[in-house]
Amino acid sequence: MSVSETSLGELSKPERLERLHRAVLGCTRCGLSTTRTNAVPGTGPCPAEIMIVGEAPGFNEDMQGKPFVGQAGKLLDTLLAGIGLRREDVYITNVLKCRPPQNRDPMPNEAEACAPYLTGQLKLVEPKVVIVLGRHALERLLPGHGPISRVHGQLLERGGINYVAVYHPAAALHNGSLVNDLQADFLKVKQYLDTILKPPPPGGPEQLSLI
Ligand code: URA
Repeated sequence: MSVSETSLGELSKPERLERLHRAVLGCTRCGLSTTRTNAVPGTGPCPAEIMIVGEAPGFNEDMQGKPFVGQAGKLLDTLLAGIGLRREDVYITNVLKCRPPQNRDPMPNEAEACAPYLTGQLKLVEPKVVIVLGRHALERLLPGHGPISRVHGQLLERGGINYVAVYHPAAALHNGSLVNDLQADFLKVKQYLDTILKPPPPGGPEQLSLI
């Protein structure tokens, strides 16, 4: 049976993610497809323990077809390094897969048109924690959860998925006082992951106390 005859159910999750990426590259679901240079589907392993969701590609991302390759991406790399991770360890994407002209805010119809891609990515990547970057991603993924200034750093569960919202790195580039919050929130993500992923020690606490 050729690949084109294979039903979706027979494809592995990484193969289905690859298909999703190809669909994004050819997407014409909204007007941004007429102004973009490249669509930016996402990068990283599948499955991945951490998935990062930003707002939308900017100038550099639109040029290269990769997420977070500009100044905000450099800060993101530094934040990841602070918790012992490289960008290759995490799956990174955005709410919008195409750059809005002049980096304007995403419009509701654009986020709506792109939503099936993000939903598909969440299902296929199966992250243990989703790091939500900034208020636009927060609004999309956790609508009604209140301002990012209140919820940042908290572990929020919705639909069986764990989320931690943090300030957008680009906001911290404009307002340096947010960098400390960002670093502290990334450390919390690491603590959540350690708690979620580490199995209890064999024999439980009693056995440990005998050592
Ligand atoms: N800002 C975002 O939200 N996403 C990118 O990919 C780059 C900058």
